[in-house]
Amino acid sequence: MKDETKCLHAGYTPKNSEPRVVPIVQSTTYVYDSTREVAAVFDDPTRSLIYSRFANPTVMAVEEKIAALEGGIAAMCTSSGQAASLLSILNLCRAGDSFISTPQIYGGTINLFAFTLKKYGIECIFVDAYADEETIHKAFKPNTRLIFGETLANPALTVFDIEKFAKVAHEHNVPLIMDNTFPTPVLCKPFDFGADIVVHSTTKYMDGHAVQGGGVIVDSGKFDWTCGNFPEMTEPDESYHGTIYTEMYGKAAYIIKARMQLMRDFGCYPAAHSAFLLNLGLETLAIRMPQYCKHGLAIAELLEASEKVERVKYPGLKSDPDYELAQKYLPNGCSGVISFVVKGGRANAEKFMDSLKLASNEVHVADIRTCVLHPASETHRQLTEEQLVAAGINPGLVRFSVGLEDIDDIKEDVQRALDAI
Ligand SMILES: *Cc1c(COP(=O)(O)O)cnc(C)c1O
Repeated sequence: MKDETKCLHAGYTPKNSEPRVVPIVQSTTYVYDSTREVAAVFDDPTRSLIYSRFANPTVMAVEEKIAALEGGIAAMCTSSGQAASLLSILNLCRAGDSFISTPQIYGGTINLFAFTLKKYGIECIFVDAYADEETIHKAFKPNTRLIFGETLANPALTVFDIEKFAKVAHEHNVPLIMDNTFPTPVLCKPFDFGADIVVHSTTKYMDGHAVQGGGVIVDSGKFDWTCGNFPEMTEPDESYHGTIYTEMYGKAAYIIKARMQLMRDFGCYPAAHSAFLLNLGLETLAIRMPQYCKHGLAIAELLEASEKVERVKYPGLKSDPDYELAQKYLPNGCSGVISFVVKGGRANAEKFMDSLKLASNEVHVADIRTCVLHPASETHRQLTEEQLVAAGINPGLVRFSVGLEDIDDIKEDVQRALDAI
């Protein structure tokens, strides 16, 4: 099946007389005929359902759909994108371990990596996305367990060289985890380029309608966890009556451990109703993405031509330093998100934002409606000036998320706001 078809049909195939649409299974628990049967499910929780903190049929349908879109073997939904990033790391790192990430990532992820995980004894080593292979090699410590990056960074809009980082990661026997939120699997499938795990904030394009937050972790099933670096995968889990994940679950060891151990203990599974809404968004994802890309490029070109604008970051523009990387990793378009710097810094950025009428000023991105945000005073206000620069954020930076209104109406709105500066 192609993506358009998977968006509509993967994850749920009704049998004779069953509901056409994925039903909302609004139940916390599942009934068994005997204690013996419940015990058997506890022995192998993948056999059937136990409790809706571990799994729920509505959520599972969405998990299967997203896994199919990414080309992975299985997925696990979480209650937010932040929860997905957190669990993707905690599944491999414990106190005393480290991991590598580029600083060109979402502001919330920087908080998690640089501040919160540090308090729990997990160190994040930041390596620039443009670093050469030797620099990435040098950043490795004996306790480094993974590399993390964002395919198309929010809001820096740098394009991550997946093959470069995957190669280095695999030379050290560690996996590459990609946050693929902005491209979605419709524009880029990181597993095709060597990534091992993918995470998403489904809150963005996947949901697409700004109705509910969510996240997901997808496992490619390709990484060899028996390589010696991951004893938690290959030695008995005391908290799960001695389960050895690689022996019992083979290629699915990572994603099943994430569910049986971390979801059990941290409890950030989405509600069935949230998954139902996410599924409605996913149904049109493959037909929405090309339109976002078309609109994104049109507005990026308009901004680039304006003398009020200092620079535009949109890797679909020929002038963009990441244009070549985008041609490789995002050949069908670079989404509807554009970052640009207006001349005159913070004050003019605010004037531009406040002069928009159609685009709404809000903390969101990748919505069906055009929206706009000023990272330096909103999402990234906790960062120092130094961290802002490392994350690619200038005080005059505006993050513009083009929606699916008529492109002429969006252009008119942007032009009016530029004229007001
Ligand atoms: C929004 C976002 C997140 C966090 O997701 P939430 O659903 O808001 O928790 C993570 N990564 C990227 C790239 C994002 O844009």
